[in-house]
Amino acid sequence: KPTVIITIGMAGAGKSTFVQRINSYLHSQDPPSPPYVLNLDPAVASTPYEANIDIRDTVDYHKVMKECVSIVLLLRTSRVVNDPDRHRLPRYNLGPNGGILTALNLFTTKFDQVLEIVEKRADTVDYVILDTPGQIEIFTWSASGAIITDAVASSLPTVVAYIIDTPRTTAPATFMSNMLYACSILYKTKLPFILVFNKTDVRPHDFAVEWMQDFEAFQAALASHQGTTDDEGEPTYMNSLMNSMSLVLDEFYKHLTAVGVSSMTGAGVKEFFEAVDASRAEYEREYLPELQRAR
Ligand code: GDP
Repeated sequence: KPTVIITIGMAGAGKSTFVQRINSYLHSQDPPSPPYVLNLDPAVASTPYEANIDIRDTVDYHKVMKECVSIVLLLRTSRVVNDPDRHRLPRYNLGPNGGILTALNLFTTKFDQVLEIVEKRADTVDYVILDTPGQIEIFTWSASGAIITDAVASSLPTVVAYIIDTPRTTAPATFMSNMLYACSILYKTKLPFILVFNKTDVRPHDFAVEWMQDFEAFQAALASHQGTTDDEGEPTYMNSLMNSMSLVLDEFYKHLTAVGVSSMTGAGVKEFFEAVDASRAEYEREYLPELQRAR
């Protein structure tokens, strides 16, 4: 059975570049091991790789935006025809995010068929890669995102790869917000989780590893960035908040693997796949029994 890699990341973290990199890495293996790639971003103009299944073939996101507006308008005019107050009603327009979410919802209604196709290919591929919408919250905080994740994870061994923009996460407060976001996804999906520190060609991720392994080093970094006390010598709100948060994170770090990669140069990609294989074992050890119990 192949391993499914769900890639998630903030816009600009380098998710598309990363997917392209691991795709070409697998192609260049001896013997080549081309992955099966699913693109779930309806709004992406072009992908740097060729997806085997592309949400854009199923739903036209621009049309969805337009048609949803016309359905809403139709409802308005038919219900309140000739009502003098009708102009007071709000106008509903689907902005880009509403359009992406609606497209994803429509695609999700057909996801059982998608999964059938993927399962048919299961004997011939080692990895299935899921690329998610560029706006991270559309996937991580939507019912559709959860349905797709659960459907995939109940059918095949699945791991989450969370892509981080390393050069942009060097400030301790930013680092912590990013980790808390990752933490929330981990607890939502409960799947094996790999933190991928991307762009290590610009900034090595050693500072992150140190902060994750050494609680006191992180606190020291925080203190030098934020200061620990206010003018009256009391601990600042931010400082005590961060101190308690980092206790939560300390627990979180125990449950995940971190790797540094450069999607630009390809450095660290081999280590990433080692982490994927280890995470797959974790899936079989921890997620699968849980799943079987639930059934
Ligand atoms: P996405 O929005 O997360 O899909 O991000 P993209 O893949 O479009 O990348 C955003 C920007 O980061 C682009 O300009 C990429 O060229 C750049 N980028 C991505 N990965 C790397 C990397 O490993 N190193 C460097 N230096 N730049 C990168």
